[in-house]
Amino acid sequence: MSVNESVIERLCMFVCPVCGGKFTAESHCLRCQTGHSFDIAKRGYVNLLMKQHAGSGDDAIMVRARREFLNSGRYLPLRNAISAILAENLPNDGVFLDAGCGEGWYAEGFRDALPNAKILGVDISKEAVDHAARRPGMGFAVGSVFRLPIADHSVDAVVSVFSPFCASEFERVLKPGGKAVAVVPLPRHLFALKAAVYEHPYENDDVRPDAGNLKQISEKTVKFVMKLQKNEEIASLFAMTPYYYKTADSDREKLQKVETLDVEAEFLIITYESVVKNNF
Ligand SMILES: [Zn+2]
Repeated sequence: MSVNESVIERLCMFVCPVCGGKFTAESHCLRCQTGHSFDIAKRGYVNLLMKQHAGSGDDAIMVRARREFLNSGRYLPLRNAISAILAENLPNDGVFLDAGCGEGWYAEGFRDALPNAKILGVDISKEAVDHAARRPGMGFAVGSVFRLPIADHSVDAVVSVFSPFCASEFERVLKPGGKAVAVVPLPRHLFALKAAVYEHPYENDDVRPDAGNLKQISEKTVKFVMKLQKNEEIASLFAMTPYYYKTADSDREKLQKVETLDVEAEFLIITYESVVKNNF
């Protein structure tokens, strides 16, 4: 078994999706006290997704497009901004969960910004988690953000970048005073890309997550322009968006002729705090 010790240690921070029990590592699996066991994949992640919670997740085309685009570093200003918020607001040796981590590109940035932190990632796409697990020093599991394989009140921060924001579940896993960080696109995000494809492009709706009982403590806007100079990069960016699947072939073909494009990247980062409830 070549899976690194520190990765095993991270994987043992997840809990059994069947009974919520703590895991101990055996040679090729994690086993809870009740005896439920889950294989550790060669790549060093564990699949904790229960069949009844399985969803479609992102498919291979989207995962590959997103990996290529993110690895090119175009979204670094966003990743750096999130990392700075985490570093400012949280203990640097805390437990950080990327809920909907995809291929782990954001988590990798958090790991580099917070070298003493314990970084975990959960995503419903096995394809994506298999790539995330190639990034060292973190623990990744296939699982649902609506039913995280994480113990109650055990993490300092939950980060949700373009993923479903499940306030009740995030509240459950956050320590009192822990932070949830949501990243959502602003109305003009990727507008030039849409304008290159559609005759009548629409701005994105301004959608803030339903934060439940979490209390908003700050928000930050991150805006920059990406000067894309290669058709492949433009195509990757388009394929990682939800529009890709809703677009007619004739419209998609328009992009094949576009070689350069200045595209707005515009995000809102909202930070919430888990407020301790008075149970008396
Ligand atoms: Zn169990």
